[in-house]
This record gives sequence, structure tokens and C-alpha cells, in this order.
Amino acid sequence: MSYQPRDLQPVYDPASGYTHFVLYTEPKYGVVGAAWNGTVSIERESPYVQEWLGRLQPCAPNTLHTTLVAPDKIAYLFHACVDDDKDSPSAVGGSGCVCFKTFMDPEFGLPVVADHYRTVGGNIDQWTYKAYAPLDLRPDDEFHRLIIDRRSGMFWIRTRDGLLSILPEENGRAYGSGYGGGGPSELARYITTLLDSGGENTAAAGDRRHDAQPDPKVFAWVSGEAATRTQELSYEDLAAIQRG
Ligand SMILES: [Zn+2]
Repeated sequence: MSYQPRDLQPVYDPASGYTHFVLYTEPKYGVVGAAWNGTVSIERESPYVQEWLGRLQPCAPNTLHTTLVAPDKIAYLFHACVDDDKDSPSAVGGSGCVCFKTFMDPEFGLPVVADHYRTVGGNIDQWTYKAYAPLDLRPDDEFHRLIIDRRSGMFWIRTRDGLLSILPEENGRAYGSGYGGGGPSELARYITTLLDSGGENTAAAGDRRHDAQPDPKVFAWVSGEAATRTQELSYEDLAAIQRG
């Protein structure tokens, strides 16, 4: 990694919880963004998405939320939905809406922005959720299941305590399955490291050696038809895939 943190002050307060999150900004370029955490955009709902949405807590927009929208949209974070104020700056023609709503995930301390798009008259009315993946599970979390969520296109981890987490992901290293390419390679690499560590290493793929290659049998499975279905995979299931 060529980047050398200069002004970054890692903050860790055991009394207020632990967050695998790093914020990196380059205000001199007029850009605010995150350099380490992968971003996810959830456009289709599923039972897993519903479960995750169910624990989010609505809150006022804060600095972290501004990193999830384009710089010229930051002001919109503070505008009401047309449902609450038909004269809101985000309202369109009295019934359409382009508002945002802001949340925090209380388990990981990560920001979530819901992006509303409703056409005038309401023929199209949808919410897209933008969020950060954590870089790892929390220190006391244990791996229980890797979840391929076909309906939403998401990948999740269920911990031994039953908590659902977005699969830890580094910026620029999005996961995929069911085709050959970079996304499935990243997922196979994640699974390979998880297996090599006996289920202990749940950190994002970016923590691995740059030249680390996924196990060929795991990569073949992740790239194939079998990995396109929604499924929950235990450590033993993944180990069986690696054995081929
Ligand atoms: Zn709205």
C-alpha cells in the first residue's frame, strides 16, 4: 500500500464499543470518501435485507453519512421526505421524491443512507440503501455461516450469536458468484483464507497478501452454477467444497 497515514488518529474506546472503520478524506480535492471499507448498494430486498434493515436506527445525518452520497447531494440529507412535507426541497411535483434518510447500524457503528426515488404519481417508488461493509467481524464474533443472498445480490456472514453482518469487504474488492472474474475470485480468496485459518480469519480480502491466490477448487465452485443459489454455508460445507 503506497498510502502513508499522516493525519489519521485511530480512536478506540473500549467503553463505547469497537468499529472496524476508517474514514479517509481529501478535502483539498473537494472529495470526501472512504478509502478502506467497501461500499455496498442494496437495491433489491430479501429476507436477509429485511433482517438487517430491522435493526437500523434512524438518526440525524452525521459526517459519516456525507461520505455515502455525492458531494452535491449532501444538503439533501437534511431535507424531509415528501411523505412528511410535500413542500420539501426533495419533493417533486407534490408526490414524487428524491430524499435521503439516514440510519446507523448499532451493531457495527456504521452509517447507512436510504435513497428514495419516487416518480410523480408514484408509478416507481423505491429505496436504495447505501452502506459500508465492515473490514472484519468484531473481536468476539465467531463465524457461523457464509450466506449467498441471490435475491438481493448480497453476501453476508451469520455469527455464532446469530448476528447478520455484511460480508467484510475492502474498497474496490466487491464479491460475486456464478461467473468467472474478479468478484468470484475475491469471494474464493475470502473463503480460502477462512478455511486456512480454521474459521478464525474473517477479515476483508484486502488484508491478505497482495498475490494470494484462491484455492482452485473453491474458485471453480464460486464461479459455477451451484454458487448462484441462495444458501447458507457452514465451515464444514466450505471445507467440503475445498476437498472437491
Ligand atoms: Zn422521500
